[in-house]
Amino acid sequence: MRDREIIQRIKDATDLAALVGQAVKLRRQGSAWVGLCPFHSERSPSFQVVADRGFYHCFGCGKHGDAFTWLMEREGLAFPEAMEQLAQSAGIEVPRQRERPAAELDLEARLRSAMDAAQAFYQGRLAGSPKALDYLKGRGMTPAFSQEAGLGYAPDGWEALLGHLKAQGFSPDLAEQAGLVSRSERGNHIDFLRDRLVIPIHDARGRVIAFGGRAFGAAQPKYLNTRETPLFNKGGVLFGFHRAKGQLRDGALVVEGYFDVLQLQQEGINQVVAPLGTALTEAHLQLIGRFTKRLILCFDGDAAGLRAMEKGLKLALPLGFDVRLLLLPAGEDPDTWCLALGAEAFRELIGKAPDWTNFIINRALDGKDLRRTPERMEALRELAGYLAFLPATPEQRELFASLAHELRIPLSELDKAIKARTAPPEAAPELPEQPRAEVDDLLRPILVLCRDPALLARAAAVPPAWWESLQGAPLLQCLLDAAGDESLVPPEALAQLRYLEAKWSAKDEAELMPEQIFIKLELGYVEREKQALNRQMQDPGVMVDPQLQGRLAQSLDQLLRRGRQLRVQMVELRRNSFSR
Ligand SMILES: [Zn+2]
Repeated sequence: MRDREIIQRIKDATDLAALVGQAVKLRRQGSAWVGLCPFHSERSPSFQVVADRGFYHCFGCGKHGDAFTWLMEREGLAFPEAMEQLAQSAGIEVPRQRERPAAELDLEARLRSAMDAAQAFYQGRLAGSPKALDYLKGRGMTPAFSQEAGLGYAPDGWEALLGHLKAQGFSPDLAEQAGLVSRSERGNHIDFLRDRLVIPIHDARGRVIAFGGRAFGAAQPKYLNTRETPLFNKGGVLFGFHRAKGQLRDGALVVEGYFDVLQLQQEGINQVVAPLGTALTEAHLQLIGRFTKRLILCFDGDAAGLRAMEKGLKLALPLGFDVRLLLLPAGEDPDTWCLALGAEAFRELIGKAPDWTNFIINRALDGKDLRRTPERMEALRELAGYLAFLPATPEQRELFASLAHELRIPLSELDKAIKARTAPPEAAPELPEQPRAEVDDLLRPILVLCRDPALLARAAAVPPAWWESLQGAPLLQCLLDAAGDESLVPPEALAQLRYLEAKWSAKDEAELMPEQIFIKLELGYVEREKQALNRQMQDPGVMVDPQLQGRLAQSLDQLLRRGRQLRVQMVELRRNSFSR
């Protein structure tokens, strides 16, 4: 079977509404499903899933695609992986393909199995390490959850893992490529993690791609991650994301450390993620943003934590996140705090986390002498950049009024300062140009139903004069040139076709019968010809030429007769469709 047929079979067998519905709340509208677009920030839904035709389209940002692009964009899968996953859920057998060079695929597969072997090795050593077990106990982790999370221990030795991997047939070079082994100063291969508690790091699909190692006692550094590899790109990975991904309805809780994530997971709070020892980046936020636009930042209450909170806020607000802040008492981490409070109380805290305004205002005013004009102005400058993101509500007016009072400036001046920081919404640069397909009503049904091969064959059979002067004719021409094979249709044309399909499905106009479509198309042609003939016959040059007049009158007569026939056919068709 050819690739294209397999892809089509997989698409046909995939319930796109169910797939998309895992991440986006959808409701029925006509024959389509609509919801808030996961690709851009919006308040009213312009995102449509046309499940029976297997594609989605956003009227706000123009994003469109099918089950494959959905998985590729949302979960960062490569095409073969998306195919594998969709085929698997659809129960379709896919012959092993070599989409990528065999060597590359082979290396990836070997790296993965080395990671799996290392994971089994570390995990198997945990029970034999009183030190590691004590450490976990001290952090409140139960043996059952430690097992579930795949925690392990890296023995204190140079070649414990290396020897194990070698015995399993992995070469030291491969182990090095997987980041599991490094080189000593003398150039020998040695275990990268030694005498550490080992925490597996997963990709969005839950496959182990790296390990974090926590030192015991005073050993430094406290945390050590295996290095970046073809499997592991640190900046794009959030710890805990594979588990959180389906649980983000109430927002993503972002914490700082591995143990914060693990502790909360143990308590059944799964909406939690952490960056891997770095600050929160825009890439992290974009990953989260594909699943939820609600963000709860929960960092330590110390100075560094507060700075990280402010930094995260600065990144998240322009991306359209509804940001809440969960400030912990100084000296508490999320994990210790959750342990002290209990899961229920902590969950309640998450639900009630206040928005960011008080936090930011306190930080801006803190330590400033508001009797002095320069300090007041500095506070205003600091605040304006944030306050610009507050939606205009009565509460916002109230807040601004009290702030203006505190800063001893007229409210209008505060408004002005904030407005200066607000980018006009029209200037939002990242929205791609929306395909605007201007298409004649006569042609549209054909373009919308073009996936039906029988219909396309009929379109190919009718005289081009019926449609080639209509708006949108180039689109049909593209389709006919490609003989219905969409991979041969130019991308811009395909985008326009999808746009039309989505719009059509949204309106849920009763689907026309192909018979009617072509009768109408011909009727339109007949009408246009009639008008042209009438104009011609009124031409002074023609009016003095009786012979030409006669020929034109004959043509007109034929057209009138054809028009009447077509109308009769139309009436009969309607009657038949009612009596059916
Ligand atoms: Zn959108």
